[in-house]
Amino acid sequence: MKSAEIREKFLSFFKAKGHTVVRSSPLVPANDPTLMLTNAGMVQFKDVFLGLDKRPYTRATSVQRCVRAGGKHNDLENVGYTARHHTFFEMLGNFSFGDYFKRDAIHFAWDLLTTVYKLPPEKLWATVYQEDDEAYDIWANEIGLPKERIVRIGDNKGARYASDNFWQMADTGPCGPCSEIFYDHGPEIAGGPPGSPDEDGDRYIEIWNLVFMQFNRDEQGNMTPLPSPCVDTGMGLERLAAVLQHVHSNYEIDLFQNLIRAAARETGTADLTNNSLKVIADHIRASTFMIVDGLIPGSDGHGYVLRRIIRRALRHGYKLGQTRPFFYKLVEDLVKEMGAAYPELAESAGYVQRILRHEEERFGETLDNGMKILESALADGTKVLNGETAFTLYDTYGFPLDLTADICRERGITVDEQGFDVAMEKQKATARASGKFKMAAMLEYNGEKTRFVGYERLEETGTVV
Ligand code: ATP
Ligand code: MG
Ligand code: MG
Ligand code: MG
Repeated sequence: MKSAEIREKFLSFFKAKGHTVVRSSPLVPANDPTLMLTNAGMVQFKDVFLGLDKRPYTRATSVQRCVRAGGKHNDLENVGYTARHHTFFEMLGNFSFGDYFKRDAIHFAWDLLTTVYKLPPEKLWATVYQEDDEAYDIWANEIGLPKERIVRIGDNKGARYASDNFWQMADTGPCGPCSEIFYDHGPEIAGGPPGSPDEDGDRYIEIWNLVFMQFNRDEQGNMTPLPSPCVDTGMGLERLAAVLQHVHSNYEIDLFQNLIRAAARETGTADLTNNSLKVIADHIRASTFMIVDGLIPGSDGHGYVLRRIIRRALRHGYKLGQTRPFFYKLVEDLVKEMGAAYPELAESAGYVQRILRHEEERFGETLDNGMKILESALADGTKVLNGETAFTLYDTYGFPLDLTADICRERGITVDEQGFDVAMEKQKATARASGKFKMAAMLEYNGEKTRFVGYERLEETGTVV
């Protein structure tokens, strides 16, 4: 089943159950200063859940374009490493605003998966929140899912991808338990069932998350039941497509295979299984959709998220031996794959290509020299890249810190991030002392998350890239 059919079947199933089909909102959320990029289907309905906005419907369904490349949900570091994560993906969702609750949500999901998409029920698992007997009973007694395949999960246990079956919009406000549906891709693939110590593997893949907004949490942490509980669900289109196309990895679905072939063509790569091709195929989707939605690469905020994604793709092209602009050419291939679902893609293709090409030319000027500096810093076999080199790469050669860290990670090397911060501080101090530089802000990197606390621009030379 192709992506177009998967989308269509999802929406028509929920439409027939009284849901209003709502268009995807843009990647930059409207009126939400707490969130940089849309990362789930519920984002455009946030105020409806909070009771601040009223809609003429109480049931909705959508296919939402999402980006997870920063903030609370950052999957940038997973791309190229897991079979199931993208920076850009499409989330299929159904929503109830004080209308139906757990029972219907679980029944709808099960019916759609097993009767419309015809997934074999014996391959499906469900998790519920530790204390959520109500959801457990629905799975066990009404759906008839064998108890061995219903797993109770508590709060996050701290593992990298650990399931966390309690959802909250923020520290206060609506929250509640989740129930997640997993598909077992079979014993040939490494990984344990949800909740087990090796659940980080790719055998059991989470396909659908059902969130039951049931409580309101106040500032003291007290939870009181919401007068009208709500439902928010999200299923990754690419993960479902992998299941339906009988492949294991998202990168093996039709859409990605075509993009991977295009990336191979533009980089002159013979081996279609090369990991860099996956990263490039992922990143052309994220970059293009972000530009279509009005963003341009820049040195802070959204623009820097976009720049980091583009430059990662370019570095992978470089790794494959391509030193000329190539990335922008993939826009046409993307239009072929996704233009029917997103007409705005074809309309903006020329514009997107110009923006990408410009960024490629710009980074192309420093990438090669930066790589030489990095190679020579690593030549002595060190296991830690010193912070000063990482800072020079960032400051003079336009290597975002996460890009440098990613190159190092491929070789089992870590980056001295503290040293990076020290070098950054030192340069700021020099700048302040010389009085030639105006402080605006600075990038701070803390482990997995990159967040901006500001940025420093070299006003005179404009060399910040
Ligand atoms: P995982 O545990 O696999 O990282 P998640 O629990 O973070 O997924 P949710 O926040 O529950 O994901 O999002 C709802 C659904 O969206 C998931 O069940 C999955 O199908 C899909 N999804 C989430 N993140 C990604 C991603 N980075 N790429 C592709 N699909 C995703
Ligand atoms: Mg995740
Ligand atoms: Mg999960
Ligand atoms: Mg989840």
